[in-house]
Amino acid sequence: MLWVPKAVHEEVIAHCQSRYPKEACGLLAGAASRIVPDVPAGLVLQVYPMTNIDDSPIGYSMDPKEQLQVEKQMRQRGQRLMGIYHSHTATDAYPSPVDVNLSISQDLSYVLVSLKDRQHPVMKSYRIDGSIVTPEELLMESAPSGMRRVGGP
Ligand SMILES: [Zn+2]
Repeated sequence: MLWVPKAVHEEVIAHCQSRYPKEACGLLAGAASRIVPDVPAGLVLQVYPMTNIDDSPIGYSMDPKEQLQVEKQMRQRGQRLMGIYHSHTATDAYPSPVDVNLSISQDLSYVLVSLKDRQHPVMKSYRIDGSIVTPEELLMESAPSGMRRVGGP
C-alpha cells in the first residue's frame, strides 16, 4: 500500500502538469525507520521533483548527480526512498515496456501519472518484479486523526 496524502498528490500532479507535454519524474520519500510509531508504513512524507534530462514527451532519465544529492538529503532528514513517479502525457497510467525494463527493485513503488486527459489526471501505483507488473493499493486521503498504522510490508 502506498499512502499519498492530498498535499503530496497535489504536488506530484502540479509538477507533472508544469512539464507537460514532456514527461516529469521524481522521487517519493518516507520515514527511514519503522520504529517511529507515529509514521505509518507506506506513508509518503516528501516529494523530490527531479530533472528529466531526456527532456522528452516519451521517456525520462534522472540526472545521477541530482539523484545522489537527493539521496543524501533523504539520509540527513531520516527518510528513505519509497517510490519513483513519472508522467505519461499521451498514454495511460500504466508502466510501458521500457518502464518495466528500467525498474530496479520490487521494493519500490512505481507511480504513474497520466495526463492523457489533462483536466483529469490519473495517478496509479505499481510494484514491478522482473517483468511482472502488479497494481498497488494507493490511498489518497489524508490521515484520519488518531489513526496509526505501524509496521506492515
Ligand atoms: Zn513511462
